Amino acid sequence: LEGVLMRTGAEPNASEVVSYAPFTLLPSAVPRVLFEQAYAVQRDFNLLVDAISRDKEFLERTLASTIKVDDFTARLFRIHRQVLEEGLAQSVFLGINRSDYMFDCGAAGPPALKQIEINTIAASFSGLGSRTAAVHGRVLRVLGMPEEAARLLPTNPARGLALGLAKAWELYGSPSAVVMFLVEEVQRNIFDQRCIENELWDRNIGVIRRRFRDVFQQGSLDGARRLYVDGQEVAVVYYRDGYVPSNYDEQNWEARLLLERSRAVKCPDIATQLAGTKKVQQELSRPGVLEKLLPGRAEAVARIRATFAGLYSLDLGEEGDKTAARAIASPERFVLKPQREGGGNNLYGEELRQVLERIKDSPERTSYILMDKIQPQPAVNYLLRARSPLKASECISELGIFGVYVRQGTELVLNEAAGHLLRTKAVEHADGGVAAGVAVLDTPYLV
Ligand code: ADP
Ligand code: MG
Repeated sequence: LEGVLMRTGAEPNASEVVSYAPFTLLPSAVPRVLFEQAYAVQRDFNLLVDAISRDKEFLERTLASTIKVDDFTARLFRIHRQVLEEGLAQSVFLGINRSDYMFDCGAAGPPALKQIEINTIAASFSGLGSRTAAVHGRVLRVLGMPEEAARLLPTNPARGLALGLAKAWELYGSPSAVVMFLVEEVQRNIFDQRCIENELWDRNIGVIRRRFRDVFQQGSLDGARRLYVDGQEVAVVYYRDGYVPSNYDEQNWEARLLLERSRAVKCPDIATQLAGTKKVQQELSRPGVLEKLLPGRAEAVARIRATFAGLYSLDLGEEGDKTAARAIASPERFVLKPQREGGGNNLYGEELRQVLERIKDSPERTSYILMDKIQPQPAVNYLLRARSPLKASECISELGIFGVYVRQGTELVLNEAAGHLLRTKAVEHADGGVAAGVAVLDTPYLV
């Protein structure tokens, strides 16, 4: 009824057969102070991501060990270096990110907001997340809880993201140019993207949807490196693809390079994608690093740092040796993370121990980082998923705040928190998001 839909696994590219996107029956309790803290730090994170993306030396230094062993990050980095050497044609920059958190009850005292990661490319569910509160409001009313229903906060991150896309399109300055959504071959989550797209059409901004391979076949640059696809000029490229190795074959890498070399606003440009790597996240937690990236912004630095969980380098050397030994001794306290996105890649518990034992003396170790495991308080809910039996589960939630910013040259012209998303999963799943079939859409009920 509310349009919280996905295409089906059986027919992932057909809109004739759809199902509901998985969701919780009931909204989940979220501490109001932590919710407000997450909103309050979002503009700081926007500034930080932007600063990292502009700091060639920082990215080079931070990713040096990673790109020796992680081919995917190395390939992205090569394109980054290549476009800088040629000189950027792009002068307007658009960042859309989603900073994800859990509420940690591991230490004594009240629960604490701890960042899981920040997604700087293809952060999804702004669209379906804009409609989920209406579903939960209906459920609560049917259950005879109209006052609780009225307390659910509406959120519309899709509109917030679209405002950023529209601003970037406007600053690009060619009214006949379009916004191109760069989409995957398999498009189960198309309706989530269409929510953003419709906001653009409402503002008379044209949108096209293309895959890397369409760009490879039909894309070109003119003398001023303006991007044309199928004869249409593209002002903004919004990536909903390109974040994992499986998104690329050789032709797709060529298409990516073409896009990055172009004058079009890339959301994100390749430097901003690299700013979202787990290795960068770990480096940010070192003393003094935030201060250097955000000079003169002590309050922003403090707000950001308060959300960090313990993060540790596994680079070769004494520090990394000690970290590996600690993790092997108490694997249940940590999460081992490779430089991957999209869920289902992290290692926990016994598996973490086995993998670290195997690679502890090899350079492969440096393709991972180690993180303290966050311990949220579980709560009972029902996860509704097509063709799954209905049962009560112990669940934990992850709050995401969408951020959007636009920079023209060196001037930041927009910097906003654009809305929120709550995803919930059963405690037995250590890893994985909604698209991975583990988490489901939820709505925060502030307490
Ligand atoms: P990805 O880029 O694959 O989404 P994440 O860092 O978000 O990687 O990790 C995926 C999932 O693993 C998260 O959604 C969360 O459920 C779980 N997770 C990640 N880091 C931690 C942590 N430090 N403590 C507890 N759970 C975590
Ligand atoms: Mg994640």
